Amino acid sequence: MSFAIQCLDCGQTEPYNPLTIHCPNCKSQWRQAVYDYPSAARQLEAALPARKFDLWRYREVLPIRQPNPDLYLGEGGTPLIRAANLGQMLGCPNLYIKDERQGPTASFKDRQAALTIAALKEAGITELVAASTGNVAISYSAYAARAGIKLWAFVTSLVPEVKMREIALYGSQVVKVTGSYDQVKQIAAEFAQKRGLYHDMGTRTITSVEGMKTIAFEIAEQLTEHLGPPPGHQPGQPRWRTPDWYIQAVSGGLGPVGVGKGFHEMQAMGFTNQQPGMIAIQAAGCAPMVHAWQNNLAEAIPVTNPQTHIETLATGTPGRSYGLLRQEMKQHGGQFESVTDEEAYRAMHLLAKMEGISAEPAAAAAFAGLIKLLRAGSLKPSDLIVINCTGHTLPAEPLILGSGWTRDVELPQTQPANPHSATEQEGLLAALNRVAPDRFPRIAIIDDTPDARRLVRRILQSQGDFTIYEAGTGRAGLELVNREHPDLLILDLMMPEMDGFTVLEALKSNPSTADIPVIVSTAKELTLEEKSRLQGQIQALLQKGDFMSEEFLAEVRALLR
Ligand SMILES: *Cc1c(COP(=O)(O)O)cnc(C)c1O
Ligand SMILES: [Zn+2]
Repeated sequence: MSFAIQCLDCGQTEPYNPLTIHCPNCKSQWRQAVYDYPSAARQLEAALPARKFDLWRYREVLPIRQPNPDLYLGEGGTPLIRAANLGQMLGCPNLYIKDERQGPTASFKDRQAALTIAALKEAGITELVAASTGNVAISYSAYAARAGIKLWAFVTSLVPEVKMREIALYGSQVVKVTGSYDQVKQIAAEFAQKRGLYHDMGTRTITSVEGMKTIAFEIAEQLTEHLGPPPGHQPGQPRWRTPDWYIQAVSGGLGPVGVGKGFHEMQAMGFTNQQPGMIAIQAAGCAPMVHAWQNNLAEAIPVTNPQTHIETLATGTPGRSYGLLRQEMKQHGGQFESVTDEEAYRAMHLLAKMEGISAEPAAAAAFAGLIKLLRAGSLKPSDLIVINCTGHTLPAEPLILGSGWTRDVELPQTQPANPHSATEQEGLLAALNRVAPDRFPRIAIIDDTPDARRLVRRILQSQGDFTIYEAGTGRAGLELVNREHPDLLILDLMMPEMDGFTVLEALKSNPSTADIPVIVSTAKELTLEEKSRLQGQIQALLQKGDFMSEEFLAEVRALLR
């Protein structure tokens, strides 16, 4: 047999049947798919070059070998995007985003849905009950629609209306329960049992774990494409690249359980030679795994009354997933960490402004966790980091944007007879003047690194009206400042030929430029002597990779006042 189901408790193996929910020997519901890895490796090696980049690429290690074309929605194969601005800001240049927003329903749950719904359809199931914090129900609904399966989607009343409507739109029955997600799960289970309907088993569903693991396979292949094989690679050695860390926000923990399994299987097949550390981020108001981890408990204590607005992360009883992840982290590195809702929303806005990526609050929590762990020194700036990103800001936009984000123009009433009359033109000009003043505060950036200049420019562009000048050398910068007399200068110190110290001395010795306020941004720890050279000459000193956009803007605004 090239593929079987193995019990995590007694080790017994049996053939796969999607409708069997426990081990026939010991009744444990915790089982996993195991494959003949050497043979799968040989087949994959031969087949991969010609295969499309989607989930089915790895079919030799999936419980379903033949994808059903009637169900296909383009699952898997999402891009791996380098986060250049955010990486620059946080001082970790090797930061990548696994962009699961680009799945069929914009979440990584599509991988789970594609395999699970396909298996249930093969098994003849036509009606299904699932409890969900939102995204599973959306994804199952889309695939269930194609499979001819009716879904009863049990959700908490916290799930945003737009998500509930999407579930309903796909033709599923939304059952909205006022209560915690764990109560929702219980009610859904009872409903399924009473009606004799198939009930989704969450992390214990073989196909769901198997779907999630394809994230790991794709990451390894994509990192290899971006960066080449691991450093020091010799012919015949594992060729695929592994990140140092995989970061995801967790609720039930299915994602990292599957991704961890994927990385283990790649190693078993000789494609990679190491495991990444797993980092699982929870919302502070519902963080049973973080609590258990920090107190070195083998089991998590349930949180019965979650205090978070991030409904996607509101699983209070993680059950055995916690133990599985804890074991993985103890063995291969990683940790659980929590972030507040506030921190998640801030990260969500940052991600949108800096990378053009609109994520939902739950995904943003992973980014907030990244920021927290970098600042705590748990992650090193040189680490290769991949973050799972899912969802859309839409339901949460009012929360982060507030009001006052448009500039409204009321055009004067048009006279059809003469649209180009003088008064018409005047009215238009007056309206345009209200869009923005003629003259913005003027800021010059002198930095020899294009990435660093782009980051500063982007921060300034994203929140305020400034006229920005840039120079890539000290000499060009000096000319620029003498010519333009900006209201503020942002100056790098380490530049070839003419460094920032020299630029600063020249500006300060010239009465016409001596009063221009200066913010120095530096990548280097300054010596005492260097600090004393700057003393009294500059208004602020920022360490590159260690300031956030908000802090920077606050500094800029204070100096322009
Ligand atoms: C489902 C989901 C989570 C939680 O994932 P688990 O692996 O099930 O814990 C986190 N973020 C988003 C956006 C999700 O959709
Ligand atoms: Zn067993």
